[in-house]
Amino acid sequence: MIEVKNLTKRYGKITALDNISFTVDTGEVLGFLGPNGAGKSTTMNIITGYISSTRGTVTVDGCEILAEPRKTKQKIGYLPELPPLYVDMTVRKYLEFMFDLKRVKLPKKEHVDEVMRLVGLEKHGNRLIKNLSKGYRQRVGFAQALLGNPPVIILDEPTVGLDPQQIIEIRKLIKSLGKKHTVIFSSHVLSEISATCDRIIIIAEGRIIADAKKDELSKVLADGQQLTAVIEGTPADIIAELKKIPDVTQAKKTETLSDKTGRYAVEYKPGADIRRETFHAMARIHCPILEMRAGSESLEELYLKLTAKAKGGAEA
Ligand code: ADP
Ligand code: MG
Repeated sequence: MIEVKNLTKRYGKITALDNISFTVDTGEVLGFLGPNGAGKSTTMNIITGYISSTRGTVTVDGCEILAEPRKTKQKIGYLPELPPLYVDMTVRKYLEFMFDLKRVKLPKKEHVDEVMRLVGLEKHGNRLIKNLSKGYRQRVGFAQALLGNPPVIILDEPTVGLDPQQIIEIRKLIKSLGKKHTVIFSSHVLSEISATCDRIIIIAEGRIIADAKKDELSKVLADGQQLTAVIEGTPADIIAELKKIPDVTQAKKTETLSDKTGRYAVEYKPGADIRRETFHAMARIHCPILEMRAGSESLEELYLKLTAKAKGGAEA
């Protein structure tokens, strides 16, 4: 559905995007994850035709944005990071205005009603946008993106600045969109992306550093795997014992929690599962395990490590 090929964007001396390529299949919900300044908005602005690339091409449903801008834009609904809203209009008036601007060829009243219902604005049609809360304004931006039923929906950091309840609702909305649309949405928060997406692309310093199905991501990213545990006892004994476990490649204390307890990080070979061995090992030396977690938590750490590494590499 979307094909991004060898995209490079320079702003003067700054290379915001450095030769990135990826494709998105029809019906896929793709999460675009990266720290601030990674190049997420730049990529989205190029895909949607708001800015041009220095090099590279984007095709959406077979149309190239540069060759057929109008036709390509009609296939995309875009919620920019800061949606341009006319705050003195009512919700309905604004959506009708955008409907006309986009030259949507559907029955106007019915379609605007349907879109308002989809985003939960059906009771707010007559309210002025300036009187809406941040969460509701975001819904208006969302509604605007859905006008005309475009097959592709692109959302730039749609949950920034929302409260937890609003975030949950926006997540639901994104998931429901995925049934009928191809969706790309960006965030700098890993948990936001992993709650909603099938597939994740991680971008840092203008380069793609990972592209994988959500379930496979930790495997793809990890050199090995990590177990973290809170254990009571003498650190030297604990570490020595942990290192004796087969498949363990590294064990260290990462945090002191009290005079007796500490947090430990144990790295082990991919594919292994050392939880039971860890239990038996600590039982042997009478050091109680108060908490233990393997695998999933390290995704967050890997993301941090990985983006830090990309940064280091770019600065070097
Ligand atoms: P993200 O959305 O991931 O936070 P952006 O795409 O906004 O990142 O920015 C990527 C890089 O490009 C950053 O270093 C940013 O400072 C730079 N940048 C973005 N827009 C401009 C611009 N209009 N002029 C100059 N530099 C820009
Ligand atoms: Mg951005």
